[in-house]
Amino acid sequence: MLDSVKETNPDIRRSPRFELIAGNVCLDFINTLDDRPSTQPKELLKDYYDLARFGEDAGILTSAQVDYFFENVHLRSDEAEDAVRRARNLREALYAIFSAVINRETAPQLAMDRLNANVHDAARHSRLVQHGERCEWRFDDMASSFYAVLWPIARAAANLLASHQLPFVRACSSPTCQWFFLDTSKNHHRRWCSMKQCGNRAKVRKFYAKQKTA
Ligand SMILES: [Zn+2]
Repeated sequence: MLDSVKETNPDIRRSPRFELIAGNVCLDFINTLDDRPSTQPKELLKDYYDLARFGEDAGILTSAQVDYFFENVHLRSDEAEDAVRRARNLREALYAIFSAVINRETAPQLAMDRLNANVHDAARHSRLVQHGERCEWRFDDMASSFYAVLWPIARAAANLLASHQLPFVRACSSPTCQWFFLDTSKNHHRRWCSMKQCGNRAKVRKFYAKQKTA
């Protein structure tokens, strides 16, 4: 009960639910299917509430926009469910594409088609707005369309795929993790999604392996 009050009160800042470590929203989005290498991956986007919360944590949606969607999920449940379905489809297409990039393989055409469909959708809702001395891209209907959260993700993926940073997309070196991230470290030697999580675990494993052989 307390929780639901907190979720709908825009004055109270919700604490983040998602671990955003990737340095790019489209890679963080891929990581919302957790434990991919295991036989039972964990779905972090179970419903529209999760999807909207991801949008809020990632800075795509404002708290007020999330509140609006939360209040309307029941009234427009078909649209909300379809948005979640589309989100997962986009995510798996992105996973296939960036996996291919990391492995220096050709991305599956079906995944590229799916991303392109989402990029088109984002473009249809895009508009150039003057902001100070320059212009910037804004999205229409961010506050009313259940699909809006997907547009900045598709745009970010397209920009990353077409950028010079693409060779620095990596998967975490832990075989049980494999979260994606953009390695922006100075020497481009980042191996772990986070030092706190997988980096430390690997250090501990190495320590015990050393002790064993000693
Ligand atoms: Zn990891």
